[in-house]
Amino acid sequence: MSVETIADGVVVSMTYQLMVDGEEAGRAGEDEPLEYLHGADNIVPGLEAALVGKKVGDRVQVIVPPEEAYGEYDDEEMDEFSMEEIPGSENLELGMIVEVEDDDGYIYEGTVVEIEDGTILVDFNHPLAGKTLNFDVTVIGLREADAEELEHGHPHSLAGMFEDDEE
Ligand code: ZN
Repeated sequence: MSVETIADGVVVSMTYQLMVDGEEAGRAGEDEPLEYLHGADNIVPGLEAALVGKKVGDRVQVIVPPEEAYGEYDDEEMDEFSMEEIPGSENLELGMIVEVEDDDGYIYEGTVVEIEDGTILVDFNHPLAGKTLNFDVTVIGLREADAEELEHGHPHSLAGMFEDDEE
């Protein structure tokens, strides 16, 4: 059975433009559409909700508030590190993304927001935390996910978009 409308378990191809604070923060054109598995938290909740029931050819323009996107900005999500704790820190500049490993071996990405007296202040908020997202989306393709995609919680047809590190 072919898929007519967007629902859980459907792989959706779409083109989109994302505007944040009046500037373009992301886009995908028809040559390289974004593909995601609906119902698997691949995209922000506010956009996913707005796409339910849509068909190929539908255009969806939606304003997604922070709580339905990357969350509110949290002042507590900051940590200080010494230069020794961050590899390559002698070349760091403000605004650069760094990876920091915690005691349990988890890797966190953060943004360098201050470098002073051998101390680096890293902001672990998502770069779009606290932002309202303006999406302009056009649905260009729908298909059923296969069993493996459902198990992984992401589509497989576009190489490199989702990493298969759970395999
Ligand atoms: Zn996979």
